[in-house]
Amino acid sequence: MAQYKPTGFGRQPSHHPDHSLLLDYASGATSEAESLIVATHLTLCAECRRELARLEAVGGSLLESIEPATLDNGFDSGFAAVMARIDGEDAAAPTVGDRRDGGASPGTSCCACDGDDHLLLPAPVRALLDRSLDRVEWKPIMRGLDEAPLPDVAGGAKVRLMRIRAGATVPKHTHRGTEMTLVLAGGFSDEGGHFERGDLAVLGAEADHRPVADPGEDCLCLVVTTAPLRLTGRMGRLLNPFVRF
Ligand SMILES: [Zn+2]
Repeated sequence: MAQYKPTGFGRQPSHHPDHSLLLDYASGATSEAESLIVATHLTLCAECRRELARLEAVGGSLLESIEPATLDNGFDSGFAAVMARIDGEDAAAPTVGDRRDGGASPGTSCCACDGDDHLLLPAPVRALLDRSLDRVEWKPIMRGLDEAPLPDVAGGAKVRLMRIRAGATVPKHTHRGTEMTLVLAGGFSDEGGHFERGDLAVLGAEADHRPVADPGEDCLCLVVTTAPLRLTGRMGRLLNPFVRF
């Protein structure tokens, strides 16, 4: 655990699930792997928790509780009434730092146990680990990059913890499927921007990138991949036969 500094706790993420993914999550249409990564992001993102509550309330209200008198004025005014009611509830929405913020703050506990894992790992990730983080058996993929597979989820997606050593560069690679990466500690930069704790990076099929970890701190990520990665740089032609996923 010593390699992870307690930075980024309580920060508001700047990279979020896109609206359609959050809408699918709200309606129960996401796969198990997508649900895992969205749920983990939600523990760290008050903004998306508020948006999820809004989406769920809109769905429920439109289906069940729009009063006939409101409907008399047409759908638009009924929808506006629902939204006004939700906006009124926003003041009570959870904020970063409450018990649903799985990050908690350094020196505080998010539950009865005050172990380091509970500060670092959101509950959906802890639920998949059968041991503490400092006892995870890392498997080296290449220099500076290690992985620790987590139990497979339904649908054939691979779920892993990945660790990029401070300052290391992952060779340029692409994927046949979708790769969703959620930063838990440290940070990295790639063609999509800079990502820190709570940020979600979604890379579609055939897009390629070359992540570089921030200096000074290892970068720990939860990664869901729906198909094997494929290295595309010059080094990739040499390494591809050895990359299992
Ligand atoms: Zn968010």
